[in-house]
Amino acid sequence: MLLPVKIGEENFERWFSNVGVEATDDGKVILTVPNPIHHLWIESNYAGPLSEVIDIASGGPRHIEFRIHANAPAAAANGKPAALALPLVDAAVRGGRQMSREPAASTALIAPADEVRVPRTLAEAGLNTKYSFDNFVVGANSQYSAAVAKAVAEKPGRIYNPLFFYGGTGLGKTHLMQAIGREILLSKKKAVVRYVTSEQFTNDFVEAIRGQTLPVFRRKYRKVDVLLIDDVHFFVGKDSTQEEFFHTFNELFNNSKQIVLASDRSPGELKNLEQRLVSRFEWGLTTQIQNPDFETRAAILRRKLGDLEDAPPMEPWILEFVAQRVRSNVRKLEGALARVAAHVSLEGSAPANEAALEALLHDVVDQEPAKTVSVDAIQRMVATHYDLRVADLTGPRRPSNIALARQVAMYLTRHMTRLPLTQIGEEFGGRDHGTVIHACKVISGRMVAEGEFRKLVEGLIAKIVEG
Ligand code: ADP
Ligand code: MG
Repeated sequence: MLLPVKIGEENFERWFSNVGVEATDDGKVILTVPNPIHHLWIESNYAGPLSEVIDIASGGPRHIEFRIHANAPAAAANGKPAALALPLVDAAVRGGRQMSREPAASTALIAPADEVRVPRTLAEAGLNTKYSFDNFVVGANSQYSAAVAKAVAEKPGRIYNPLFFYGGTGLGKTHLMQAIGREILLSKKKAVVRYVTSEQFTNDFVEAIRGQTLPVFRRKYRKVDVLLIDDVHFFVGKDSTQEEFFHTFNELFNNSKQIVLASDRSPGELKNLEQRLVSRFEWGLTTQIQNPDFETRAAILRRKLGDLEDAPPMEPWILEFVAQRVRSNVRKLEGALARVAAHVSLEGSAPANEAALEALLHDVVDQEPAKTVSVDAIQRMVATHYDLRVADLTGPRRPSNIALARQVAMYLTRHMTRLPLTQIGEEFGGRDHGTVIHACKVISGRMVAEGEFRKLVEGLIAKIVEG
């Protein structure tokens, strides 16, 4: 529907300068008008666009009611139209000619403005230089997602369209999406790639209505080869933006352009998102990124430590502790590591023990306490791994294979339980605490020097923590 009347300054003054806007707690918007004629005229000529902008401005669908107000609302008294209290109403009405229920049709009516810059650099495409496939650590939790991301980057628009990532916060959705954009931008010189969050898309849309630049907006989002929209859960409750995005989606999809979406929920769980959008999101491939397991967390930490400039030396138990205690968010994992690194460079040394480390990271570690691990569980796991009996670890014998297994078990007990050194000694056949300290030094020394050995110990930790 195109508006039947073009409204000029004069008409605006006449019909809207005396209209007031009030939002009520129960989700209504009340327009106060001076008389029934205003009510009738506004409702019959501007209902559609008015409700559209009110929804946008309010962040959700609103029921509009009219109320007759004998006196013009207060703000009008000083000569300013009260309607400007909600500037979008102003924009909607003045820009009403451009607002239509059928965006594609109205685009054709307006001479396209040539103001959309084709993104040629990562920054122009909205991409952050720090996200690439190269520095994404693939674990069991993200293996499938990373594989389809790479496939899409290789053949955009051809295999999985749309590609929809979902999963909890800080698990790498944005990273993977941006890696797709980066890969395509750098490898296919002509490809137009654009990444935005759904919030930016919404703001851009609102701005386009306000500034009467919808055609520019539409060129920006529809004349691309790859559109990456992050955090689409933000669209929930924003009906007009959803409608706009629906048309954007259709145009891209029909032209075999790649669409990549990410959200904290699966499409089916996006309550209050228009059904026709949800079903489109499900047309292609939906993939979940799960919480990383211990080994993946440790691998991510090592990778991040390696990427730090002037990475300070860190004993293995520090990374293990962080990986054990920060479980559900990679961003927090990075934050914890950065804090330890800062501590090392300021103080000249890492926190001396777990209590100090825990104090340093008290607000980052997961609230839910780490699984309590018993000495018994550690001894059994280590004995099984070395094909020994638990009694060998706690007994007096010292052949080298037993001695090594015993030292590994002591190291793990030291870092996975809260037992004091003397008690650890007790648990290993009444050895003294100096023996435990020595065992820990030997094992962490070997872990730093020998990658294979470090993997072995981390594999044992993973088995112990994950059950
Ligand atoms: P999300 O979008 O799922 O909330 P992000 O993609 O923003 O999460 O990831 C949060 C941070 O964690 C980013 O700095 C990202 O680089 C990092 N990150 C997440 N997963 C990985 C991974 N598998 N390998 C390397 N870094 C990761
Ligand atoms: Mg994100």
